[in-house]
Amino acid sequence: MKKAIDTEKIKQFQSMREPLTLQAAIRESNRCLLCFDAPCSAGCPAGTDPGKFIRQIKFYNYKGAARTIRNHNILGSVCAFLCPVEKLCERACSVKALEDPINISGLQRFATEYGKHFQIEPLRKSEKNQGKIAIIGCGPAGVGCAAELAKMNYDVTIFEREDMAGGVPKWNIPEFRLPAEAIAYDVENLLSLGVDIRFNATIENNEAISMLLAEGYMAVFISTGLSVALKIDLFDNYINALDYISFLRSVKFDHNNIDLKNKNVAVIGGGSVAVDSAVSAKACGANKVYLISLEHLDELPADKGEIELAREMNITFKAGCQITDVNANEKIITGLKGMEVEWIKPENFSPSNVRKVEGTTFALNVDLVVQAIGTKPGYEISRFHKSLQTRGKGIIEVNDLFETNLEGVFAGGDVVNAGSTVVQAVGEGKKAALSIDNYLKNRENKA
Ligand SMILES: Cc1cc2nc3c(=O)[nH]c(=O)nc-3n(C[C@H](O)[C@H](O)[C@H](O)COP(=O)(O)OP(=O)(O)OC[C@H]3O[C@@H](n4cnc5c(N)ncnc54)[C@H](O)[C@@H]3O)c2cc1C
Ligand code: SF4
Repeated sequence: MKKAIDTEKIKQFQSMREPLTLQAAIRESNRCLLCFDAPCSAGCPAGTDPGKFIRQIKFYNYKGAARTIRNHNILGSVCAFLCPVEKLCERACSVKALEDPINISGLQRFATEYGKHFQIEPLRKSEKNQGKIAIIGCGPAGVGCAAELAKMNYDVTIFEREDMAGGVPKWNIPEFRLPAEAIAYDVENLLSLGVDIRFNATIENNEAISMLLAEGYMAVFISTGLSVALKIDLFDNYINALDYISFLRSVKFDHNNIDLKNKNVAVIGGGSVAVDSAVSAKACGANKVYLISLEHLDELPADKGEIELAREMNITFKAGCQITDVNANEKIITGLKGMEVEWIKPENFSPSNVRKVEGTTFALNVDLVVQAIGTKPGYEISRFHKSLQTRGKGIIEVNDLFETNLEGVFAGGDVVNAGSTVVQAVGEGKKAALSIDNYLKNRENKA
């Protein structure tokens, strides 16, 4: 079978995420200052407690460290690969005042892999005597909420549109950044808690929430993420202009049918998702890959490490540029025309705030355009319940307890925060679980 993915390129990416050896983990944990109030733990949105698991590694209790991570963060294995630690736990690390912060995600990965290899005992199946809860969406927020509720002995059912669990990390985050085994291990832990996942179960009916409540579910948690990719009108009706959701999914699951050898790809966008798309195109053997963004190089929202990786992969940055026209052969784009732009008002990075710079027109030959300019919630949200309060493009409104305006209905993750991180979604799912428990206990006390 034809193999379109360039394995040499993939190896290059993978060498950047070699796990820590036992000796390196001991050395790294020994740099820990054992802070009394562990600011790194406060810096983790999911409460994974790095202060505790680093201490356990330091005192050679590797299985204990693996248990701490898994018990506090059901997606601990996935987070070890994906967390932007420089903005979270490592940013808070006290060692940073003296030298480089402790490599927390490296130690987390070491401990989870140790726990997996030496088979720490499975999580306990819950007794399920506290009543039924429905969760819509089996991504990080849904998984985080389900695990917490199951530990509190609720009978949890997750309704998931796809045929596998994991949400965006499963379907869209490239394999070279997150190996499938990491998700599989975390999902296995979720299942060992006795959570029931119904696959191929899209919730989309009118008044679906009322129906779930009428079926005996005592509360509903909505964690459907952002499933509709935003598109640029200019590319409407061209068959070789994809959105990043379908592009990254094809690269991950259908890569034998993507052949970008000797092809030029233009990715529109300047965030992490755009960089993932550009790097994936390169890994599929593309000749030239352009990353075209309104933001200038020093304004790109993508992480510095990702930009560095894109540079190493010889991706051409067309930063501070806007595409103004396409050349096409019927429904196939063959080239793009663009111009450099400047912001009309500073610090407002919106497409409506750009001014084209005269005399800067350029042209590019391209065979594929990938649009990575953002996402919004699925349209079915508006059908869940006619009174469910949303704002903007369908983001669900919640209070600090992740309660929506509807009694017994909670929401969290990207569908509420408009797009953040895996660890943030897990944290919101956990907090919502506690709110659900409090809500049900208060309701019981009042009855
Ligand atoms: C390309 C890309 C790269 C990223 N890289 C990183 C990274 O490196 N680090 C990081 O921390 N974060 C990253 N993120 C962000 C991260 O993936 C999200 O913040 C996180 O997945 C949000 O979790 P969620 O559970 O809210 O939503 P999702 O992950 O979107 O999960 C929602 C789930 O709900 C299901 N669903 C949707 N509608 C329905 C319905 N009507 N009925 C039933 N089921 C439904 C979906 O199939 C999905 O399984 C990245 C995102 C993208 C797109
Ligand atoms: S889950 Fe992420 S943010 Fe939390 S401690 Fe682990 S690496 Fe840091």
